[in-house]
Amino acid sequence: MNLAYKRIVVVGGGAAGSMAAAALATGLPGSVVELVESEEIGILGVGEATFPSIRSFHQLLGIDEADFVRATNATFKLGIEFRDWRVPGESYFHTFGDFGVLSGPYALWGQHRRLADASLGRLGEQCLPTLMASQGRFQALSTQAGNGFNYAYHFDATLYAAYLRKLALARGVRRTEGRIVEVVRGPAGVSELKLTDGRVVAGDLFIDCSGFASLLLGAALGEPFIDFSRWLPVDRAWACPSARVGDELAPYTRATALEAGWAWRIPLRNRTGHGHVFASRYICEERALAQLLAQMDGPPIAEPRLLRFTTGHRARMWVDNVIALGPSGGFLEPLESTSIFLVQSALGRLMNLLVSGAVPSAAQVGDFNGAMARQFARVRDFIILHYRLTARRDSALWSAMATMDLPDTLAFKIRAWRQSSQLHQYDEEGFDATSWLAIHAGMGHWPDRPDPALSVVAPAVARHALQMRREAIAATVAAMPTHDAYLRGMLAR
Ligand SMILES: Cc1cc2nc3c(=O)[nH]c(=O)nc-3n(C[C@H](O)[C@H](O)[C@H](O)COP(=O)(O)OP(=O)(O)OC[C@H]3O[C@@H](n4cnc5c(N)ncnc54)[C@H](O)[C@@H]3O)c2cc1C
Repeated sequence: MNLAYKRIVVVGGGAAGSMAAAALATGLPGSVVELVESEEIGILGVGEATFPSIRSFHQLLGIDEADFVRATNATFKLGIEFRDWRVPGESYFHTFGDFGVLSGPYALWGQHRRLADASLGRLGEQCLPTLMASQGRFQALSTQAGNGFNYAYHFDATLYAAYLRKLALARGVRRTEGRIVEVVRGPAGVSELKLTDGRVVAGDLFIDCSGFASLLLGAALGEPFIDFSRWLPVDRAWACPSARVGDELAPYTRATALEAGWAWRIPLRNRTGHGHVFASRYICEERALAQLLAQMDGPPIAEPRLLRFTTGHRARMWVDNVIALGPSGGFLEPLESTSIFLVQSALGRLMNLLVSGAVPSAAQVGDFNGAMARQFARVRDFIILHYRLTARRDSALWSAMATMDLPDTLAFKIRAWRQSSQLHQYDEEGFDATSWLAIHAGMGHWPDRPDPALSVVAPAVARHALQMRREAIAATVAAMPTHDAYLRGMLAR
């Protein structure tokens, strides 16, 4: 293979670095890839909920699903249950599935709302994975058969990084353990890294996966940070696991709104991950920890860890010969589990350029940076929507979120929805129109008037279509095993 870069150095062996090393070793066979990481510093180890695109990443790497599930204590994820976001006591589900046609006369949600017929059940009953989640069932169905749906995983983040690292090393990546104490600049950007014991690691392309330290792009090259915290003020998290309780294994993440942030619950096969993401300007760390402990399924099985972050990204994620993936390039608070997805997205763009064998041009690098900045902004807007639609006024955080100024891009989308039932999509969207609908519907945020196109369909026809779909979904779900039974069957094979 014609290789544009003779020696690629990946800095960091957390999820981002391990994903990069595995992708480079698989997509650029014969290339020299060196992974530098420090056991003393360790990894973040908290990214435990994912996004459905992770499955295509695993397919490209040739990963066997059962092998991966076994190695990482993984479970399946059909979406996220949001509790107490609009008002305390209410909940809704952000599904990875679909609601059929989204616009025009046959818009399923529109007809369901227009008929307002209690005998048709909840809108969620028109979506296969939403009903599966509510009954704790799981079965992978083929999308080719037309009745499939998207799903993702929960996993132990430390085991996941180790799993991919092992795969990368087996495919030829070299691992260097040691702490980087100096990043040496050269004409192309960075030329080499110096380790504590005097060893030097040279390269001609550097992938900065050093986490929040952003050793190369931030600290050495000084790329400015674009701060999103005026819209997304949470900036700390307590993370702590509890033992798994009982046989029930929810096939979804739960995000419960609290006084100054929200708490996650992520079920793994051997334990349950818990965390409280909060805004330090509205609550002190001690009170935030007490609120987390009160939320947990059982007593902690490890010391709670406090993590600090700022939501935003480096203005450019690719500068000279340095590309930052993961928190070293940018971080959006974890409400929609998008960090690993954004790593995957950047990695996909990078691999597309590298496989050509030519050094990317300035225009291609500019295009990469523009696309990543837009993708971050799209995901940012999606996350803001969850907060902005709240009817809560019971704490300083929620009052501020309900009235804050919005980015223009999001204000436009909200107007398009309110005025003309349009689920507007920009380029580089991370979330499709169904996801946007799930949040609007879940938060009870509807267009100001029904779409006139809906009245083209006779009510009896619409009712029949909704009844048929609801019954078909209910029958499919009733025949499925529980999530726990499905996992046990898969791992017994
Ligand atoms: C509270 C919280 C919850 C999250 N939840 C999710 C989630 O549900 N889903 C999701 O997708 N993402 C989530 N994330 C993000 C996710 O944790 C990260 O995207 C993911 O862990 C990747 O991080 P990383 O590999 O870039 O960094 P890290 O895991 O921090 O790894 C950094 C690596 O760089 C190395 N390193 C750093 N400095 C040096 C040095 N001087 N010398 C040598 N090596 C060095 C370290 O040793 C380590 O190997 C969450 C993040 C936070 C803060």
